[in-house]
Amino acid sequence: MRTDYDKVALECFCSNCDRLIYTGLDLRGYRRSVVNSYSEQVRAISGKCPECKTDSFIIPIVYSKSSVGRVT
Ligand SMILES: [Zn+2]
Repeated sequence: MRTDYDKVALECFCSNCDRLIYTGLDLRGYRRSVVNSYSEQVRAISGKCPECKTDSFIIPIVYSKSSVGRVT
């Protein structure tokens, strides 16, 4: 099994499960979602919860260039 160097581990919140869930996201997909959602107002993007399979998953947007990479 290869190292998951292209995964980013994030602490997400599911409003349906009402708890924090750590999840590993594909870094390239995550970056793309962040870029698509980018605005001054947006601090998080929604996704599908791995636990309850609903779209109540709130994924924080991390703008740190060192951890996520360039957002251009
Ligand atoms: Zn959930």
